[in-house]
Amino acid sequence: MILGKKIMKTSGIPTLLGIPFDGCSSYLRGAGDAPGKIRKALRCDASNSWSELGVDLGVAGVYEDAGDLEFSEAGGFAAIEAGVGALIDQRKRPVLLGGDHSITHPIVKAVARQHGDLTIFHFDAHPDLYDEFEGNQLSHACPFARIMEAGLAKRLVQVGIRTINRHQREQAQRFGVEVVEMRALPAYEKLKAAGPVYVTFDMDVLDPAFAPGVSHREPGGMSAREAIAHLHGIEGEIVGVDVVEYNPVRDVSGVTATVAAKIVKEILGKMIAG
Ligand code: MN
Ligand code: MN
Repeated sequence: MILGKKIMKTSGIPTLLGIPFDGCSSYLRGAGDAPGKIRKALRCDASNSWSELGVDLGVAGVYEDAGDLEFSEAGGFAAIEAGVGALIDQRKRPVLLGGDHSITHPIVKAVARQHGDLTIFHFDAHPDLYDEFEGNQLSHACPFARIMEAGLAKRLVQVGIRTINRHQREQAQRFGVEVVEMRALPAYEKLKAAGPVYVTFDMDVLDPAFAPGVSHREPGGMSAREAIAHLHGIEGEIVGVDVVEYNPVRDVSGVTATVAAKIVKEILGKMIAG
């Protein structure tokens, strides 16, 4: 194949893939039912198909939807890595709908195989840097420890953090993580990358007043507008995205599904607008 990596990167069609997995949640299950509900909200007639950046997502071919990944829970991580890898091999830019945050580890494994100098922009109330959580090294509290110790990312920038403890602060120092705590926002200056960018958006970065449908509600978070402004402000080429931790069981009249869909819509618009 003569096509260079650079061409493949810029030409990929953003493609939705649902990852209905909540088997590594430490507190509550339910996030596995999120993908279909986010999709439904994304296409709801209550809004139109235009993103704020002027991209009409209703135009055929601007993005695709590969449906939900099918797998057994036991073989989940290998199947997720393979499923995302298959999209990348088809020259598509994966936009993953979680699922709990543990899925970001196998996803980034697949993305890093194509993009060695990856920068990760991570929106979350939590650093998710535990070496292990309740005896599980693959817990949704641990994915960024696994990613950084495996050298899968050149930079990890965390935005919106407001639950960091001593262990995770030590882990952040150990891995050279750039942590922008919620109290230090805005973080626009940190969201600039020279190489490929992966965006991982945990819905609990938002204040529970905006997004109550999450397993771990953490007050004092971002407004929907602050989150959108930071996503729009990213400088760098977005090669993959996940939106995780929406938990329908905890939602209030579907408002969090609507917010998750809005986040997906604005990220899609950003990817397509370039
Ligand atoms: Mn998380
Ligand atoms: Mn979180």
